[in-house]
Amino acid sequence: MCLFCKIVNREIKADVVRENEHALAFRDIHPAAPTHLLVIPKRHIAAIHDATAEDAALLGQLMLLARDVAEEVGLAENGYRLVVNNGRDAGQSVFHIHVHVLGGRALAWPPG
Ligand code: AMP
Repeated sequence: MCLFCKIVNREIKADVVRENEHALAFRDIHPAAPTHLLVIPKRHIAAIHDATAEDAALLGQLMLLARDVAEEVGLAENGYRLVVNNGRDAGQSVFHIHVHVLGGRALAWPPG
């Protein structure tokens, strides 16, 4: 079972900020910004590139949950960034799709 499936099943502890029927939001263990959350589906999908048309509603729910948790942790006013890394060149290290929610400082663009 993958690392994030274990977090969903509570076999590995995480600092969970929000949970609903389909998704989970928790704090990244190595924050890349003052606030860094991850939003994941409870169902295993390895990467955005593996998603299908049947996953469209679930992917939409991830974005809305990311928006809601950003609001909840106080990022809405100054702004925040949502990031989905896919594959090696993007630096994806956990192969269970996740949306990074980054904020709490001005973020450089373009990313490295
Ligand atoms: P990515 O590089 O896009 O695949 O992002 C994976 C993210 O998962 C990284 O930012 C890691 O810091 C984070 N991460 C890895 N293990 C854990 C964990 N046990 N709890 C919370 N975040 C984790």
